[in-house]
Amino acid sequence: MNTISGELLAQVTVEAIEHRRDLHRHPELGWTEFRTASRAAAMLTSAGWQVQAGDPICELDARMGVPDEEELAEAWRYAGENGGDPHWMDLMRGGSTAVVATLDTGRPGPVTALRFDMDALPIDEATQEGHRPAREGFRSRKPGVMHACGHDAHTAIGVAVGRVLSELRSSLSGTIRIILQPAEEGTRGAASIVAAGVLDDVDYFLCPHVGAESLRLGSVIPGATGFLATEKLDLTFSGTAAHAGLSPESGQNALIAAAHAVLGLHGISRHSGGNSRVNVGTLVAGAGRNIIPPNASLKFEVRGDNNAVLGYLSAQAQRVTEGAAKMAGVSASLERVGHAPSAASHPALVERVASLAQSTQGITSVDEPVMATASDDATAMMERVSERGGQACYLFVGTPVGDGHHTPTFDIEERCIGIGIELLSRVVLDIAGDVDRQSPA
Ligand SMILES: [Zn+2]
Ligand SMILES: [Zn+2]
Repeated sequence: MNTISGELLAQVTVEAIEHRRDLHRHPELGWTEFRTASRAAAMLTSAGWQVQAGDPICELDARMGVPDEEELAEAWRYAGENGGDPHWMDLMRGGSTAVVATLDTGRPGPVTALRFDMDALPIDEATQEGHRPAREGFRSRKPGVMHACGHDAHTAIGVAVGRVLSELRSSLSGTIRIILQPAEEGTRGAASIVAAGVLDDVDYFLCPHVGAESLRLGSVIPGATGFLATEKLDLTFSGTAAHAGLSPESGQNALIAAAHAVLGLHGISRHSGGNSRVNVGTLVAGAGRNIIPPNASLKFEVRGDNNAVLGYLSAQAQRVTEGAAKMAGVSASLERVGHAPSAASHPALVERVASLAQSTQGITSVDEPVMATASDDATAMMERVSERGGQACYLFVGTPVGDGHHTPTFDIEERCIGIGIELLSRVVLDIAGDVDRQSPA
């Protein structure tokens, strides 16, 4: 029987909405998702999945932008005191908060993987009555941290899909893998999971996002394409302090280097191979009015239509850094703290998702694939799957989003959660469901 019972879907959807609200109350920033990840690992284990967490599926050296010890320790403490699962948390010490759950059906067939991201953002959530999480009591309990991109819904959908597929196990073939990814914001987390080999044998890969390019409940967009490749960089200049009146000539001015760097970075030429973006987002420098500034640090990012444009931008950024340091006689260090390649969805899998979406409850419009204008490091996984001849599909599940992603009033229409669960479960069932056809005769 290759159908999913309406009763089962209704039940897991109710629980998924509860789960989403719980995660919304307890948001966790990238690499500190101890509570979120450990509880999800426990839930998937009790749903009958084989679960791995931490170092074996999260290559430590490939993690980018990991918070300092103090922040990790504080998040660890919070998770421990607020219902984190101690067994699973123990495997995530030091911030290896990835979870991979596997359902091995024991029958030959394709490897199908789904990716859900778990991290929140450094935003103070809105308190006004008009904001539903505030009104209904599931606003963030952590000042300055908020699920403002919908990754709480993603995690809840992922666990719920796990429960549905586990019920359908006897109708499935091959291997199904659910990947719960840390640190998507800042495109810091996917690379470590790719480096650990988790995507190496994947034939079909699906990655959903609520909202973003699809802002109407009931609409879905199977097949985002043209994600901007991006690199996030931290640049630090170190010079020498000196008295600004007595001996300014003995100082080495890091602020001047940073100022040259800002203009140099924004002055990087366009590229004929595609669109590009450059943004210096923060600049912090200096020690006091009458001191030659000995220190300066910048956070910036570059984005490009394709990997060639991105490669050009990052090479130019390196030259600007060296030039600016040389002009001011200071030293510079440029650290890559985030990266995502460009990637495209596979037309055949897009078509498959679109045709299943047509007949999914609650979906009223199936829209054409879009050119994404943001970045998501799921592209690192899509790239690996495509390189090996597998098929990848990124899809948007429609929902209004308050005043937008990454704002203090971001919220979703929770009915999109049930739509996501049903659609993804049906896609996996379509790929892995024909046991008779796929078993050897
Ligand atoms: Zn986001
Ligand atoms: Zn997001």
